Amino acid sequence: KSSFLMTPGPTQVPSQVSLAMAQEIIHHRVPAFGALLKDITEKLQYVFQTQNDVLVFPGAGTGAMEGAIVNFFSPGDKVAFGIIGEFGSRWAKIAEIFGLQPIRLGGEWGKAVTAQDIDLLLSSEAGKGVKGVFITHNETSTGVYSDLKSIGEVCKKHNVLYLVDAVSSLVAIDCKTDLWGIDVVITASQKALMTPPGLCFFSVSKKGWEYNQEAKCPRYYWDLANALKSLKKASPENPYTPAVTLLFGLNEALNMIKQEGLENVFKRHLQLSKMFRTGVEALGLELMVKDEKIASPAVTSIMLPEGIEAGKISGFFRNNGIVIAGGQGQLKGKIIRVGHLGYVDAFDISNTLITLGRAFKSQGKALNTEAALKKAWEVYEHE
Ligand code: PMP
Repeated sequence: KSSFLMTPGPTQVPSQVSLAMAQEIIHHRVPAFGALLKDITEKLQYVFQTQNDVLVFPGAGTGAMEGAIVNFFSPGDKVAFGIIGEFGSRWAKIAEIFGLQPIRLGGEWGKAVTAQDIDLLLSSEAGKGVKGVFITHNETSTGVYSDLKSIGEVCKKHNVLYLVDAVSSLVAIDCKTDLWGIDVVITASQKALMTPPGLCFFSVSKKGWEYNQEAKCPRYYWDLANALKSLKKASPENPYTPAVTLLFGLNEALNMIKQEGLENVFKRHLQLSKMFRTGVEALGLELMVKDEKIASPAVTSIMLPEGIEAGKISGFFRNNGIVIAGGQGQLKGKIIRVGHLGYVDAFDISNTLITLGRAFKSQGKALNTEAALKKAWEVYEHE
Protein backbone atom coordinates (compact mmCIF):
# COMPACT_ATOMS: atom_id res chain seq x y z
CA LYS A 1 0.00 0.00 0.00
CA SER A 2 1.35 3.39 -0.90
CA SER A 3 1.77 6.10 1.69
CA PHE A 4 -0.26 9.26 1.94
CA LEU A 5 1.90 12.38 1.57
CA MET A 6 1.60 14.98 4.31
CA THR A 7 5.01 16.41 3.42
CA PRO A 8 5.71 19.90 2.11
CA GLY A 9 6.33 18.36 -1.30
CA PRO A 10 5.83 16.23 -3.15
CA THR A 11 2.16 16.35 -2.25
CA GLN A 12 -0.83 14.14 -3.04
CA VAL A 13 -1.84 14.08 -6.69
CA PRO A 14 -5.61 14.05 -7.36
CA SER A 15 -6.85 11.11 -9.43
CA GLN A 16 -8.13 13.50 -12.13
CA VAL A 17 -4.53 14.66 -12.58
CA SER A 18 -3.17 11.10 -12.66
CA LEU A 19 -5.83 10.08 -15.18
CA ALA A 20 -4.97 13.02 -17.43
CA MET A 21 -1.38 11.74 -17.45
CA ALA A 22 -2.52 8.30 -18.58
CA GLN A 23 -3.48 9.58 -22.02
CA GLU A 24 -1.41 8.74 -25.05
CA ILE A 25 1.63 10.93 -25.57
CA ILE A 26 1.60 13.58 -28.30
CA HIS A 27 4.60 14.98 -30.13
CA HIS A 28 5.84 18.37 -29.01
CA ARG A 29 6.16 19.87 -32.50
CA VAL A 30 2.53 19.39 -33.51
CA PRO A 31 -0.32 21.95 -33.31
CA ALA A 32 -2.05 20.03 -30.50
CA PHE A 33 0.97 20.62 -28.28
CA GLY A 34 1.04 24.31 -29.22
CA ALA A 35 -2.60 24.60 -28.16
CA LEU A 36 -1.90 22.80 -24.88
CA LEU A 37 1.07 25.03 -24.06
CA LYS A 38 -0.90 28.18 -24.89
CA ASP A 39 -3.77 27.05 -22.69
CA ILE A 40 -1.44 26.13 -19.81
CA THR A 41 0.46 29.42 -20.08
CA GLU A 42 -2.76 31.43 -19.74
CA LYS A 43 -3.84 29.43 -16.71
CA LEU A 44 -0.38 29.85 -15.19
CA GLN A 45 -0.72 33.62 -15.57
CA TYR A 46 -3.94 33.32 -13.55
CA VAL A 47 -2.28 31.42 -10.68
CA PHE A 48 0.81 33.65 -10.78
CA GLN A 49 -1.56 36.66 -10.78
CA THR A 50 0.40 38.25 -13.59
CA GLN A 51 0.35 39.56 -17.12
CA ASN A 52 4.08 38.86 -17.34
CA ASP A 53 5.54 36.03 -19.36
CA VAL A 54 5.41 32.64 -17.64
CA LEU A 55 7.79 29.90 -18.77
CA VAL A 56 7.71 26.17 -18.01
CA PHE A 57 10.78 23.94 -17.95
CA PRO A 58 11.32 20.30 -17.11
CA GLY A 59 13.27 20.50 -13.86
CA ALA A 60 13.29 20.63 -10.08
CA GLY A 61 12.72 23.80 -8.08
CA THR A 62 16.47 24.04 -7.56
CA GLY A 63 16.88 24.30 -11.31
CA ALA A 64 14.58 27.31 -11.29
CA MET A 65 16.64 28.80 -8.45
CA GLU A 66 19.72 28.54 -10.65
CA GLY A 67 17.81 29.87 -13.67
CA ALA A 68 16.72 32.91 -11.69
CA ILE A 69 20.36 33.76 -11.05
CA VAL A 70 22.02 33.07 -14.39
CA ASN A 71 19.37 34.86 -16.45
CA PHE A 72 19.44 38.19 -14.67
CA PHE A 73 22.90 38.75 -13.23
CA SER A 74 26.60 38.78 -14.02
CA PRO A 75 29.63 37.62 -12.07
CA GLY A 76 30.58 40.33 -9.58
CA ASP A 77 27.03 41.64 -9.15
CA LYS A 78 26.07 42.57 -5.62
CA VAL A 79 22.75 41.00 -4.55
CA ALA A 80 20.88 40.60 -1.24
CA PHE A 81 19.25 37.48 0.15
CA GLY A 82 16.70 37.20 2.93
CA ILE A 83 17.79 33.99 4.62
CA ILE A 84 15.43 32.37 7.08
CA GLY A 85 16.19 28.72 6.46
CA GLU A 86 17.57 26.06 4.18
CA PHE A 87 16.19 27.34 0.89
CA GLY A 88 17.29 30.95 1.20
CA SER A 89 20.68 29.63 2.17
CA ARG A 90 20.77 27.36 -0.91
CA TRP A 91 19.85 30.25 -3.22
CA ALA A 92 22.69 32.43 -1.90
CA LYS A 93 25.10 29.53 -2.36
CA ILE A 94 24.08 29.13 -6.01
CA ALA A 95 24.62 32.87 -6.52
CA GLU A 96 28.10 32.54 -5.02
CA ILE A 97 28.96 29.62 -7.29
CA PHE A 98 28.16 31.81 -10.29
CA GLY A 99 30.43 34.56 -9.00
CA LEU A 100 27.83 36.96 -7.63
CA GLN A 101 28.46 38.76 -4.35
CA PRO A 102 25.59 37.84 -2.05
CA ILE A 103 24.83 39.84 1.08
CA ARG A 104 23.04 37.55 3.52
CA LEU A 105 20.32 39.13 5.64
CA GLY A 106 18.60 37.44 8.55
CA GLY A 107 20.04 34.03 9.21
CA GLU A 108 17.86 33.24 12.18
CA TRP A 109 15.84 30.16 11.27
CA GLY A 110 12.23 30.47 12.37
CA LYS A 111 12.17 34.27 12.11
CA ALA A 112 11.25 36.39 9.09
CA VAL A 113 13.34 38.94 7.22
CA THR A 114 11.23 42.10 7.07
CA ALA A 115 10.86 44.95 4.61
CA GLN A 116 12.51 47.14 7.21
CA ASP A 117 15.60 44.88 7.33
CA ILE A 118 15.90 45.16 3.56
CA ASP A 119 15.29 48.90 3.54
CA LEU A 120 18.02 49.36 6.15
CA LEU A 121 20.49 47.39 4.08
CA LEU A 122 19.66 49.11 0.80
CA SER A 123 19.91 52.53 2.45
CA SER A 124 23.31 51.76 3.98
CA GLU A 125 26.82 51.99 2.58
CA ALA A 126 27.04 48.17 2.51
CA GLY A 127 23.90 48.01 0.38
CA LYS A 128 25.10 50.50 -2.23
CA GLY A 129 25.01 49.00 -5.71
CA VAL A 130 22.83 46.01 -4.81
CA LYS A 131 21.10 44.98 -8.04
CA GLY A 132 18.63 42.39 -6.81
CA VAL A 133 16.77 41.19 -3.73
CA PHE A 134 16.00 37.47 -3.34
CA ILE A 135 13.24 36.35 -0.98
CA THR A 136 11.93 32.90 -0.08
CA HIS A 137 8.16 33.33 0.13
CA ASN A 138 7.51 30.25 2.22
CA GLU A 139 10.58 28.89 3.99
CA THR A 140 9.71 25.21 3.80
CA SER A 141 12.42 24.22 6.26
CA THR A 142 10.89 26.22 9.12
CA GLY A 143 7.29 27.08 8.24
CA VAL A 144 7.74 30.86 8.18
CA TYR A 145 6.45 32.98 5.33
CA SER A 146 7.55 36.40 4.15
CA ASP A 147 5.50 39.56 3.66
CA LEU A 148 6.00 39.96 -0.07
CA LYS A 149 3.88 43.08 -0.38
CA SER A 150 5.89 45.30 1.95
CA ILE A 151 9.21 43.96 0.65
CA GLY A 152 7.95 44.84 -2.86
CA GLU A 153 7.49 48.46 -1.81
CA VAL A 154 11.10 48.61 -0.60
CA CYS A 155 12.43 47.03 -3.80
CA LYS A 156 10.49 49.58 -5.83
CA LYS A 157 11.81 52.46 -3.72
CA HIS A 158 15.40 51.36 -4.30
CA ASN A 159 14.79 50.29 -7.90
CA VAL A 160 16.27 46.80 -7.56
CA LEU A 161 15.14 43.58 -9.20
CA TYR A 162 12.79 41.63 -6.91
CA LEU A 163 13.02 37.83 -7.12
CA VAL A 164 10.84 35.41 -5.14
CA ASP A 165 11.13 31.69 -4.52
CA ALA A 166 7.50 30.62 -4.35
CA VAL A 167 8.26 26.91 -4.78
CA SER A 168 6.29 25.86 -1.71
CA SER A 169 3.81 28.74 -1.68
CA LEU A 170 2.39 29.55 -5.09
CA VAL A 171 -1.35 28.77 -5.00
CA ALA A 172 -1.15 27.97 -1.24
CA ILE A 173 -0.30 31.52 -0.11
CA ASP A 174 -1.31 34.71 -1.90
CA CYS A 175 1.40 35.99 -4.24
CA LYS A 176 0.20 39.04 -6.17
CA THR A 177 3.03 39.13 -8.66
CA ASP A 178 2.00 42.25 -10.58
CA LEU A 179 0.33 44.19 -7.80
CA TRP A 180 3.30 43.73 -5.47
CA GLY A 181 5.87 44.39 -8.20
CA ILE A 182 7.62 41.03 -8.17
CA ASP A 183 9.91 40.81 -11.19
CA VAL A 184 10.74 37.12 -11.08
CA VAL A 185 8.70 34.39 -9.39
CA ILE A 186 9.78 30.77 -9.48
CA THR A 187 7.86 27.69 -8.46
CA ALA A 188 7.65 23.93 -9.09
CA SER A 189 4.94 21.40 -9.84
CA GLN A 190 5.11 19.12 -6.81
CA LYS A 191 3.69 21.36 -4.10
CA ALA A 192 0.43 23.33 -4.18
CA LEU A 193 0.12 22.76 -7.93
CA MET A 194 -0.88 19.14 -7.14
CA THR A 195 1.23 17.70 -9.96
CA PRO A 196 4.10 15.19 -9.64
CA PRO A 197 7.66 16.52 -9.40
CA GLY A 198 9.42 17.43 -12.64
CA LEU A 199 8.24 20.85 -13.80
CA CYS A 200 9.45 24.27 -12.77
CA PHE A 201 8.22 27.73 -13.69
CA PHE A 202 9.38 31.32 -14.02
CA SER A 203 7.42 34.53 -14.37
CA VAL A 204 9.47 37.43 -15.73
CA SER A 205 8.56 41.12 -15.75
CA LYS A 206 9.60 43.74 -18.31
CA LYS A 207 12.31 44.90 -15.92
CA GLY A 208 13.43 41.28 -15.62
CA TRP A 209 13.88 41.07 -19.38
CA GLU A 210 15.89 44.33 -19.30
CA TYR A 211 18.20 42.78 -16.72
CA ASN A 212 18.32 39.64 -18.85
CA GLN A 213 19.78 41.61 -21.77
CA GLU A 214 22.72 42.71 -19.62
CA ALA A 215 23.25 39.44 -17.71
CA LYS A 216 26.58 37.75 -18.43
CA CYS A 217 26.33 34.56 -16.35
CA PRO A 218 26.79 31.49 -18.57
CA ARG A 219 23.60 29.64 -19.42
CA TYR A 220 22.33 27.25 -22.02
CA TYR A 221 19.59 24.96 -20.68
CA TRP A 222 18.16 27.74 -18.52
CA ASP A 223 18.20 30.41 -21.24
CA LEU A 224 14.84 32.06 -20.59
CA ALA A 225 15.05 34.48 -23.54
CA ASN A 226 15.43 31.49 -25.84
CA ALA A 227 12.45 29.80 -24.19
CA LEU A 228 10.39 32.96 -24.64
CA LYS A 229 11.21 33.02 -28.35
CA SER A 230 9.82 29.48 -28.71
CA LEU A 231 6.77 30.33 -26.64
CA LYS A 232 5.94 33.34 -28.84
CA LYS A 233 5.80 31.29 -32.05
CA ALA A 234 2.41 31.02 -33.80
CA SER A 235 2.21 27.52 -32.35
CA PRO A 236 3.95 27.84 -28.96
CA GLU A 237 6.82 25.47 -28.27
CA ASN A 238 9.66 24.74 -25.90
CA PRO A 239 13.25 24.93 -27.15
CA TYR A 240 13.96 21.34 -26.06
CA THR A 241 11.79 18.29 -25.43
CA PRO A 242 9.20 19.23 -22.82
CA ALA A 243 7.75 16.88 -20.17
CA VAL A 244 4.59 16.37 -22.20
CA THR A 245 2.94 13.90 -19.84
CA LEU A 246 3.45 16.12 -16.80
CA LEU A 247 1.95 19.01 -18.75
CA PHE A 248 -1.22 16.95 -19.31
CA GLY A 249 -1.41 16.52 -15.55
CA LEU A 250 -0.63 20.15 -14.81
CA ASN A 251 -3.37 21.28 -17.17
CA GLU A 252 -5.93 19.27 -15.21
CA ALA A 253 -4.59 20.53 -11.87
CA LEU A 254 -4.86 24.13 -13.12
CA ASN A 255 -8.46 23.45 -14.19
CA MET A 256 -9.22 22.24 -10.67
CA ILE A 257 -7.63 25.35 -9.14
CA LYS A 258 -9.55 27.64 -11.50
CA GLN A 259 -12.75 25.86 -10.69
CA GLU A 260 -12.27 26.22 -6.94
CA GLY A 261 -11.10 29.82 -7.45
CA LEU A 262 -7.70 31.07 -6.32
CA GLU A 263 -9.12 33.08 -3.41
CA ASN A 264 -10.96 30.00 -2.13
CA VAL A 265 -7.80 27.92 -2.45
CA PHE A 266 -5.92 30.46 -0.29
CA LYS A 267 -8.75 30.44 2.26
CA ARG A 268 -8.75 26.65 2.42
CA HIS A 269 -5.02 26.59 3.12
CA LEU A 270 -5.37 29.19 5.85
CA GLN A 271 -8.30 27.41 7.44
CA LEU A 272 -6.54 24.02 7.41
CA SER A 273 -3.32 25.43 8.82
CA LYS A 274 -5.25 27.07 11.66
CA MET A 275 -7.05 23.80 12.27
CA PHE A 276 -3.75 21.94 12.38
CA ARG A 277 -1.91 24.46 14.55
CA THR A 278 -4.79 24.46 17.03
CA GLY A 279 -4.79 20.68 17.13
CA VAL A 280 -1.03 20.47 17.65
CA GLU A 281 -1.15 22.90 20.57
CA ALA A 282 -4.15 21.13 22.09
CA LEU A 283 -2.21 17.88 21.90
CA GLY A 284 0.29 19.57 24.20
CA LEU A 285 3.04 19.89 21.59
CA GLU A 286 5.05 23.02 20.87
CA LEU A 287 4.79 24.85 17.57
CA MET A 288 8.12 26.08 16.30
CA VAL A 289 6.62 29.24 14.77
CA LYS A 290 4.52 30.79 17.50
CA ASP A 291 3.78 34.10 15.84
CA GLU A 292 0.61 33.55 13.83
CA LYS A 293 1.47 36.50 11.55
CA ILE A 294 4.42 34.66 10.02
CA ALA A 295 3.16 31.07 10.44
CA SER A 296 2.94 29.37 7.08
CA PRO A 297 -0.44 28.25 5.76
CA ALA A 298 1.42 25.50 3.86
CA VAL A 299 3.72 23.76 6.35
CA THR A 300 3.89 23.47 10.14
CA SER A 301 6.99 22.64 12.17
CA ILE A 302 6.57 20.93 15.52
CA MET A 303 9.28 20.98 18.19
CA LEU A 304 10.25 17.57 19.46
CA PRO A 305 10.21 17.26 23.24
CA GLU A 306 13.31 16.00 25.05
CA GLY A 307 13.83 12.28 24.59
CA ILE A 308 11.64 11.88 21.51
CA GLU A 309 13.45 10.86 18.35
CA ALA A 310 12.34 12.34 15.03
CA GLY A 311 13.09 9.12 13.19
CA LYS A 312 10.84 7.10 15.50
CA ILE A 313 7.93 9.50 15.00
CA SER A 314 8.24 9.64 11.24
CA GLY A 315 8.80 5.85 11.21
CA PHE A 316 5.53 5.35 13.10
CA PHE A 317 3.78 7.59 10.58
CA ARG A 318 5.22 5.65 7.65
CA ASN A 319 4.15 2.34 9.18
CA ASN A 320 0.66 3.79 9.47
CA GLY A 321 0.42 4.93 5.88
CA ILE A 322 1.39 8.61 6.15
CA VAL A 323 4.67 10.33 5.24
CA ILE A 324 5.73 13.45 7.11
CA ALA A 325 9.05 15.32 6.96
CA GLY A 326 11.87 15.79 9.44
CA GLY A 327 14.03 18.83 10.08
CA GLN A 328 16.63 20.02 7.57
CA GLY A 329 20.08 21.45 8.18
CA GLN A 330 20.44 22.88 11.69
CA LEU A 331 16.91 21.67 12.58
CA LYS A 332 17.62 18.01 11.84
CA GLY A 333 16.41 15.89 14.76
CA LYS A 334 14.84 18.90 16.47
CA ILE A 335 11.55 19.19 14.62
CA ILE A 336 9.09 17.31 12.47
CA ARG A 337 7.28 19.05 9.62
CA VAL A 338 3.81 18.45 8.28
CA GLY A 339 2.84 19.79 4.88
CA HIS A 340 -0.78 20.84 4.37
CA LEU A 341 -0.75 22.21 0.86
CA GLY A 342 -2.20 21.28 -2.47
CA TYR A 343 -4.82 18.54 -2.56
CA VAL A 344 -5.56 18.56 1.15
CA ASP A 345 -8.72 18.75 3.26
CA ALA A 346 -9.89 18.66 6.88
CA PHE A 347 -10.08 14.86 6.88
CA ASP A 348 -6.34 14.70 6.15
CA ILE A 349 -5.58 17.13 8.97
CA SER A 350 -7.75 15.18 11.38
CA ASN A 351 -6.05 11.89 10.48
CA THR A 352 -2.63 13.46 10.89
CA LEU A 353 -3.54 14.72 14.38
CA ILE A 354 -4.77 11.25 15.36
CA THR A 355 -1.56 9.69 14.07
CA LEU A 356 0.52 12.29 15.92
CA GLY A 357 -1.18 11.29 19.15
CA ARG A 358 -0.60 7.60 18.47
CA ALA A 359 3.02 8.16 17.39
CA PHE A 360 3.88 9.96 20.63
CA LYS A 361 2.04 7.35 22.66
CA SER A 362 4.18 4.69 20.97
CA GLN A 363 7.19 6.57 22.37
CA GLY A 364 5.77 6.63 25.89
CA LYS A 365 4.33 10.15 25.76
CA ALA A 366 0.56 10.29 26.15
CA LEU A 367 -1.16 13.21 24.43
CA ASN A 368 -4.77 14.27 24.63
CA THR A 369 -5.90 13.40 21.12
CA GLU A 370 -9.58 13.64 21.90
CA ALA A 371 -9.32 17.24 23.13
CA ALA A 372 -7.11 18.13 20.17
CA LEU A 373 -9.56 16.79 17.63
CA LYS A 374 -12.45 18.60 19.29
CA LYS A 375 -10.63 21.94 19.22
CA ALA A 376 -9.27 21.43 15.72
CA TRP A 377 -12.70 20.68 14.25
CA GLU A 378 -14.18 23.65 16.11
CA VAL A 379 -11.62 25.92 14.46
CA TYR A 380 -12.34 24.34 11.11
CA GLU A 381 -16.06 24.93 11.46
CA HIS A 382 -15.69 28.52 12.61
CA GLU A 383 -13.01 29.72 10.21
N1 PMP B 1 12.61 26.34 -2.60
C1 PMP B 1 11.72 25.98 -1.69
C2 PMP B 1 11.06 27.02 -0.86
C3 PMP B 1 11.41 24.63 -1.52
O1 PMP B 1 10.53 24.24 -0.62
C4 PMP B 1 12.07 23.66 -2.33
C5 PMP B 1 11.77 22.18 -2.19
N2 PMP B 1 11.41 21.74 -0.95
C6 PMP B 1 12.99 24.11 -3.26
C7 PMP B 1 13.23 25.46 -3.37
C8 PMP B 1 13.74 23.16 -4.12
O2 PMP B 1 12.90 22.43 -4.94
P1 PMP B 1 13.38 21.01 -5.51
O3 PMP B 1 13.47 20.07 -4.37
O4 PMP B 1 12.27 20.68 -6.48
O5 PMP B 1 14.67 21.23 -6.19
